[in-house]
Amino acid sequence: MSELSQDKKRSQVAPPKLIFESGSPGRSAVDWPSEVSDVGELIPASLLRDDIPGFPELGELEAVRHFTCISQRNFAIESQFYPLGSCTMKYNPKINEAVARLAGFAEIHPLAPTKLLQGALALLYDLEKMLAEISGMESVSLQPSAGAQGELTGLMLIRAYLGERGNPRQKIIVPDTAHGTNPASSTLCGYDVIQISSNARGVIDVAAVEKVMGDDVAAVMITNPNTLGLFETNIEAIAATVHQKGGMVYLDGANLNALMGIAKPGHMGVDVLHMNLHKTFSTPHGGGGPGAGPVAVKAQLRDYLPVPRIVQNGEQFQLQEDCPKSVGRVRSYLGNFGVLVRAYTYILSLGGDGLEAASRMALLNANYIRKRLAKAYQIAYDQPCMHECIFTDRVQHKNGVSTLDIAKRLLDYGYHPPTIYFPLVVSGALMIEPTETETPETLDGFIDAMLAIAQEAKDDPEMVKSAPHSTPVGRLDEARAARKPVLRWEPGSSGGDS
Ligand SMILES: *Cc1c(COP(=O)(O)O)cnc(C)c1O
Repeated sequence: MSELSQDKKRSQVAPPKLIFESGSPGRSAVDWPSEVSDVGELIPASLLRDDIPGFPELGELEAVRHFTCISQRNFAIESQFYPLGSCTMKYNPKINEAVARLAGFAEIHPLAPTKLLQGALALLYDLEKMLAEISGMESVSLQPSAGAQGELTGLMLIRAYLGERGNPRQKIIVPDTAHGTNPASSTLCGYDVIQISSNARGVIDVAAVEKVMGDDVAAVMITNPNTLGLFETNIEAIAATVHQKGGMVYLDGANLNALMGIAKPGHMGVDVLHMNLHKTFSTPHGGGGPGAGPVAVKAQLRDYLPVPRIVQNGEQFQLQEDCPKSVGRVRSYLGNFGVLVRAYTYILSLGGDGLEAASRMALLNANYIRKRLAKAYQIAYDQPCMHECIFTDRVQHKNGVSTLDIAKRLLDYGYHPPTIYFPLVVSGALMIEPTETETPETLDGFIDAMLAIAQEAKDDPEMVKSAPHSTPVGRLDEARAARKPVLRWEPGSSGGDS
């Protein structure tokens, strides 16, 4: 709790102010040369405004302090534990950044002739091979820039493949434990979604798939491990059923952090999958930064992959555009190159054994939290989990304390809350993904905070329900913040209302 009182103190010492509320008229961080009496002599009149309403006037130190303080309000994996389920907020080693910033990578022009891009192409070619090896698939395209774009691309491949055989079909089967992007991608690709339910153990039964699998179904789209953090144990039998009826198996491999070196989706009957390099393969993400969601396919889908393909011709790497069956480009150039360099560096620096150790540690950490929190929180599915564990607010709800309250109270203890109210199949879900990069001490600190909150929920529920108490703003009206965001400061507005 000493951390908490520290935080309280800090927010009292420096209440957040808008830059427009700081400074004083006439103050400036710039000096004109003394011989200049009129700035019009330095700047063309056409570029000068008569007046900028509400323009903040600050000295240099005030401006620096303002922005430094704001930057310290950021929540980052480099400052605090970030157990946001499904997002794999692991620490991203600095060597990835160092390599991505090498001039030979950072400064190449994407339109340079291929003979000047040989190093970059070799890296991309090798990365495709590494990802194929890790996932147990045959071929990879690095073009898609996010998991969801990888899903769309993968479904486009299925549509093209089935279409060429006479019928692209109309439907995709999506379990209720799939990531929310799966039904969205299916719809975007022109398919109708058939939702099926997971069983009492949180996984899909073959019978549930058999019941809806017909010759109008193009594919089943399975997240494995699923969003309950559970391994889909029936996946091979499900794949056999789907294949027998002429459909394909799409695997959402965004959660590959649980599987590296342990299990390969390619060995489970999967035809196409995507991987989230910005999660498992260590690119900083969150807040909408750049990502990469490569798709990996079995041989029968290879010809449909996006162009250009990177091919090796003797010692030379070339870009092959002439692929008549290809679904075409899905983005500009060759993908989010900086992210791809980071993933390549990450894989090489860990090596096969290191990747496996990372996954095993991610599983261990999640199960450690699951076990230690079980005495205070209800576990959604009481069995060993993969890389994340899911609790509910059932116990705390008896005292009127909800998942949202617990999440907000965690902010007072200095932790980023877990993912909440997802997956939808679990009422009041708290989805905790610690990742492999945290020490036992950090996990214990987080667990102690969760246990303390469970105790508060019994002894002083109001304390939890009115949290957070130590942050610059309390509880926002989330609906209003989303519907009517205040994005522009207007002169005369207080700013405190947002
Ligand atoms: C994160 C995630 C996605 C979506 O990835 P984006 O890069 O955010 O588009 C899809 N499926 C699963 C299981 C995920 O965890």
